Amino acid sequence: MADLTEQQKRFLSATGCEVAYDHLTRHLYATDASIYRVKPLAVAFPKTVAEVEAITRAAHECGVPITPRGTGSGVTGGAIGPGLVIDFSRYLKRMGDFDPDTLSIRVEPGLVLDVLNNRLKRHGFVFGPEVATSSRATIGGMVGNDSSGARTLLYGTTADHVLAIEGVLVNGERVKITSKGTEPRSLGERLSQLIEPAREEIARRFSADLPKRWPGYGLDRFIRRGGNPCYIVVGSEGTLMLVTALELRVVHLPRQVGMAVLFFNSLDEALECAPQLVELKPAAVEVVDRILFDQTKGQLQFANVRQFLGLDEFMGECFLIVEVYEEVEDKLATITQWVRGARVITTIDRSKINGVWSLRKAGLSLLTAKKGPKKPVAGIEDTVVRVGQLAEYAQEIRHLLNQFGVKASFYGHAEAGLLHIRPMLDLRDVNDLGKFRAIADAISELVQRYNGSIAGEHGCGMARTEYLHRHLGPELYSVLSKIKSLFDPSGLLNPGKIIDTGVYKIDSHLRMGPGYRISLPFEPQLRFA
Ligand SMILES: Cc1cc2nc3c(=O)[nH]c(=O)nc-3n(C[C@H](O)[C@H](O)[C@H](O)COP(=O)(O)OP(=O)(O)OC[C@H]3O[C@@H](n4cnc5c(N)ncnc54)[C@H](O)[C@@H]3O)c2cc1C
Repeated sequence: MADLTEQQKRFLSATGCEVAYDHLTRHLYATDASIYRVKPLAVAFPKTVAEVEAITRAAHECGVPITPRGTGSGVTGGAIGPGLVIDFSRYLKRMGDFDPDTLSIRVEPGLVLDVLNNRLKRHGFVFGPEVATSSRATIGGMVGNDSSGARTLLYGTTADHVLAIEGVLVNGERVKITSKGTEPRSLGERLSQLIEPAREEIARRFSADLPKRWPGYGLDRFIRRGGNPCYIVVGSEGTLMLVTALELRVVHLPRQVGMAVLFFNSLDEALECAPQLVELKPAAVEVVDRILFDQTKGQLQFANVRQFLGLDEFMGECFLIVEVYEEVEDKLATITQWVRGARVITTIDRSKINGVWSLRKAGLSLLTAKKGPKKPVAGIEDTVVRVGQLAEYAQEIRHLLNQFGVKASFYGHAEAGLLHIRPMLDLRDVNDLGKFRAIADAISELVQRYNGSIAGEHGCGMARTEYLHRHLGPELYSVLSKIKSLFDPSGLLNPGKIIDTGVYKIDSHLRMGPGYRISLPFEPQLRFA
């Protein structure tokens, strides 16, 4: 995109909203936790809803695309864009008082999940969905992606906990969305008119037995849960409106928590065990493979938990973390009986439980710092199938990867049928880049054969939008396009995400693609890659 003219800059800044046009800020906001890079023209930091309204209206008048952003921990490039990035995390992060009568709390979108949960904990409550990035992910970003993570069987996804959404449309108009309808009313009425005729196709394409989400706007939940328009906005990845406030439903903290860690020789053995464990209605069944847990080797921070789990002596390939709530002793005893033969560690000690979670949560960040040129690459990496299909599905994926001679890390939320699969590739190498494309295309086809979801929790962003038409079919894709036009007729809100403009591909706009070089004015003595 052409740079902003001086006149456009003056026009944007005249709104009173803080806007940065300098190269350093633009470079910093050109990336998120994805493999992509798109340099914006400017970055805005609104302090009030009035400023969001004013800066949005001004950008709209200038014809500048707008990308809302939390803390950029998304892995599909959802929070980067070529025009104006609006950072909600710097100032719009206040929260209201917790209301014990309605079990709800009002928050601004830039609030970080851990900050919210620390406040709720004092009252004995928690926001149900938990992301591994809870120390930095914002509620606005979680709403953008309809995030979930562990404990989906108990708590569902973010969408299941949003009671009301306030925000701004691309022309600066304020809107409010609740389960009862929308303000202005016409928005909700038109939404129903667009979605209702596709009821049968929605039921056919989106079976109700996946605990995670289907990609695109939440048509299935809108239909199945009484036409609640919140389900369309949650998970819309900043393509429909800018969220400025949310009313959230919270849940009681469990009284008792227990954990069993089950060790296996292979991923297959672990995944075959998962369906039986799910019968116990656990809070979570997380699968962690050797590539991931080996990253904590030699890290002082994880020395205690590694010792507790005996990871230095463990010769197998994989372990399952099973977390249970209430009647924990019975449940842990049942698990121990079920998996006779496999090594099992159980605990009800909260500090040990937290230690195991911190190892699991930090694992992915550590994984991305893996030494050597080949890195675990995020692409189609949050696919969801039914838990009973998981072992067979993982075998097919491994077979596929073997054909390309590629290793991958497998970890994820087994109870919900979600596997994060990260092939180890060097995207600066054209051969590996070719493999990346071929593997992504093949996984997309495989997931379709399993009637699963290609984007169970990370959104479509730049990475999966190109596959959406194929996964949804022409009728539902056309409904998505009409919803986009209803909310954002100018197409300026986070363009190219969910609704394909042909600009983004899973292997385009790479941060470190072929030809990427850092030219240093000295010879480095220490190298990771
Ligand atoms: C190591 C690692 C582990 C992760 N683990 C999990 C996990 O367990 N479960 C999971 O679900 N995800 C996980 N993620 C993905 C990511 O952390 C989540 O999607 C998170 O909720 C994003 O929050 P954010 O504030 O970083 O949002 P961003 O990445 O900044 O934005 C996400 C999307 O929301 C939109 N958005 C942000 N704010 C607004 C707003 N105010 N109005 C409208 N749209 C908005 C953006 O445009 C973008 O499309 C992980 C990522 C990493 C790197």
